[in-house]
Amino acid sequence: MTQSPVWHPFTQHALEPPMKRVVETKGAYLVDEAGNRVLDAISSWWVITHGHRHPTIVEAIRQAAQSYDQIIFAEYTHAPAEELARGLIDLSPAGLDHVFYSDSGSTAVEVALKMALGFFHNTGKHRDRIVVMEHSYHGDTIGTMSVGERGVFNAAYEPLLFGVDTIPFPTPGEEQNTLDTFDASCRSGRIAALLIEPLVLGAGGMKMFGSALLSELKKIAEHHGVLLIADEVMTGWGRTGTLFACAQAGISPDILCTSKGLTGGSLPLAATLCTRQIFDAHLSTDRRNTFFHSSSYTANPIACAAAVANLKIWMEEPVQARIDRLAALQRQGLSRFAGDRRFRNIRQSGTIAALDLAVPSDGYLADIGPSLRAFFRERNLLIRPLGNIIYLMPPYCVTETEIDRLYDTIDEAASMCLEKAA
Ligand SMILES: *Cc1c(COP(=O)(O)O)cnc(C)c1O
Repeated sequence: MTQSPVWHPFTQHALEPPMKRVVETKGAYLVDEAGNRVLDAISSWWVITHGHRHPTIVEAIRQAAQSYDQIIFAEYTHAPAEELARGLIDLSPAGLDHVFYSDSGSTAVEVALKMALGFFHNTGKHRDRIVVMEHSYHGDTIGTMSVGERGVFNAAYEPLLFGVDTIPFPTPGEEQNTLDTFDASCRSGRIAALLIEPLVLGAGGMKMFGSALLSELKKIAEHHGVLLIADEVMTGWGRTGTLFACAQAGISPDILCTSKGLTGGSLPLAATLCTRQIFDAHLSTDRRNTFFHSSSYTANPIACAAAVANLKIWMEEPVQARIDRLAALQRQGLSRFAGDRRFRNIRQSGTIAALDLAVPSDGYLADIGPSLRAFFRERNLLIRPLGNIIYLMPPYCVTETEIDRLYDTIDEAASMCLEKAA
């Protein structure tokens, strides 16, 4: 077979083994062409919530395809988009009254940034800077790289990135420093918004912080008239134990971004929700105040129908009970490593569990990363450590036996790596 022309994401083709070809997905598994069942312990990059191909979602897609393909979303609307918007407003924190559609997490964040800047521009205030948290990840477009952690991933593109204010990640005991730095930034009078991943910084290393800090940040933002943008692209749809992570802090952001789990992970779709004030700042007989944003596939009706089906699953099935059960299984799994010197920073937020392997070199490009990944791959487990950080974020249909298998294999992997390192 000739070499594939496909260029894969986050892949160094000079070092990778051949791609495994998937022929089917089902529940917590990917099935490859050799018939191997691979346990998807990271929900296919964090998108699959209930499990692959939940029947209600598959049926909704099938039904929608009988009536729709893409429909222009200016001048025209359709039932799936309308129904989804109302459903999202019902389920999301109070005060979010409008829904803008796009097609990925990155575009949901781009839209949020433009809404925030547009809000101040249209209300005649000069505020054009964004505050972000150290180690954040918001996507891979030029705009979202600008508001994310700088490093090896974006070194080549650095000249194109815009400047932001950064607040330190709140390591335990240092929370006040984070709050004070934010307050000092706000005092410049130029800050439009704080953009934050609530409770868990995902791609930055599954770094977790408490809900109290989030509510303190919200208070400071409010005091200075700074907007709070919650990037719930990863944390949404139950990952942190509640439908949205903001609920745990008892806060309503001014803007909320959702994507990954919005369609249960079945189809690409994103939504940026905002308050009435932000919508109203763009409502004018002056066309210059229009929100100038669109993408070709905005509010794809089939994707919206899949998301409506996801909402239906949340209403009609015991999703919260499954999340609570998975959180308990993760707690039990992690507990076996308590006091184990092979690991550091054992942590959990709802259904997400993470721990760092105690090796000398850390960071994403830590030597240990590829050998760990190969170890799991040989055992038909889809686990992709972020450097020496091992995390599990399985779909909610995963069983106790499967979770046990994951922790057993992490145990073996740690011993293998540390033997090699010694
Ligand atoms: C994945 C992710 C994004 C980007 O989403 P894409 O759909 O990959 O563009 C943005 N923010 C957070 C917090 C994410 O985890």
